[in-house]
Amino acid sequence: MSDYYTILGVEKNASKEEIKRAYRKLAHKYHPDKSGGSDTEFKRINEAYYVLGDDKRKAEYDRFGTFSGGRGGFAGQGDFGFEEMWKNFGGSGGFSFGGGDFTDIFESLFGVGFEGSARQSKRGRDISIEIMIPFSEAVFGTTRKILLNKRATCEECKGSGATGASKTEKCETCSGSGTVRESRRSIFGVFTSLSECPKCKGRGEVIKNPCKACKGEGVLRRENEVEISIPAGINNGEMLRLTGEGEAKRGGAAGDLYVKIHVEPHRLFAREGHDLISEIEVSLTDALLGAQKQIEALDGKIKIEIPQGVDSGDMLRVRGRGVPKERSGRGDLLFKVKIKNPKKLSRKARELIEELKKEGL
Ligand SMILES: [Zn+2]
Ligand SMILES: [Zn+2]
Repeated sequence: MSDYYTILGVEKNASKEEIKRAYRKLAHKYHPDKSGGSDTEFKRINEAYYVLGDDKRKAEYDRFGTFSGGRGGFAGQGDFGFEEMWKNFGGSGGFSFGGGDFTDIFESLFGVGFEGSARQSKRGRDISIEIMIPFSEAVFGTTRKILLNKRATCEECKGSGATGASKTEKCETCSGSGTVRESRRSIFGVFTSLSECPKCKGRGEVIKNPCKACKGEGVLRRENEVEISIPAGINNGEMLRLTGEGEAKRGGAAGDLYVKIHVEPHRLFAREGHDLISEIEVSLTDALLGAQKQIEALDGKIKIEIPQGVDSGDMLRVRGRGVPKERSGRGDLLFKVKIKNPKKLSRKARELIEELKKEGL
C-alpha cells in the first residue's frame, strides 16, 4: 500500500494546514473532469486526505501504519471508512458537480462523507457472539439465556438523556442542523466543508438538565439477559441475527446481535441434511433369521425391523424420525448394519454350525 504522506507529497511532520494545502492542490490537478485528470489518482489522493486530514484517523495511521476504519467486521462497528464513503458517493465516476467547479467538489465530497458517518452513528453497534450447543438441541431446537454486557437504554431517563421533564433545546452553535460549515478562501475560490457540530455532536439539540445516571447519553453499559431461541434443525456454523438486541443508541435504532452456533458432535449420531445417521450392531442369528429391536434414538425409544438375511453395510430406514424440517415433517433416521460375528464358539455352537454347513449355508 502506498504511503499516504508520499501520495500527498508532504513530510511526516507536516501541519494540518500543509496537508490540507497539498491535498487541495493535487485534487485540483487530478480531478477527473479536467484534462490530465485521473480517476485513480483522484481517488488515491482523496483516500490519503480522508485519513491524514482527520486527527483521529491520522493518529491511528501514524501508530499502526494503516487505517482500518469501516473495513471488514459488521456494519456499524468501528469507524466509517473511506471505501464505504466512496461507494456511497458512487466512486469518482458518480461525481456530478454541475459545472465541474472545484469548490463544489470539495463541498460535495465532505458533505457526503459526513452524511455517511451521521447515518452510521444513528444506529447502535452490532454485537457478535458464539455459543456451543449439544447435538440433540440443535436437532430439536432450544433456547439459551445469556448475560450480555452492552449499552442499553438508561432506565432512569427511559433513554431520553434528560432529568425529569427537562426539555431539550435547539443547539445554538449549529442552529439545530447538527452540522457546522467552515468556509475558507483560497486561490481556487471559497471552500466550504461540513463537519459534525462539536457542541451537540450532530444531534442538533442539547439537553437542559442531563440525566445523572447516564450523563445525558440515554444509554448505559450493563449486564443484560438476552434469550436466544435456536430453531430446530440448525447446522453447525450457522448464524442467527436478533434484530435490535445489539447496543442501544439515544435517538436511534439499536444494533443487532449476531449469534454463531457451534454444534457439539454426537457419540452415536451424525447429520446428513435432514437425515440422522447411526450404526446398528446385529447378531449373526438376527441377521440370518430377522428380528425386531428396540433402540434408543435421540428422542426416545424406537422399534426397528431387522429383515431376514440383512447384510453388513445395508441401511435400515426409519421414516420421519430425523431432523425436523422448516415447514413440516422430519427427515429419516438411518442405521448402517454391522453384523457382529462371534469371536468364540462353544462346543455346542460349533456342532450346530457344522450342521448348517451341511445345509450349504
Ligand atoms: Zn439516563
Ligand atoms: Zn449543534
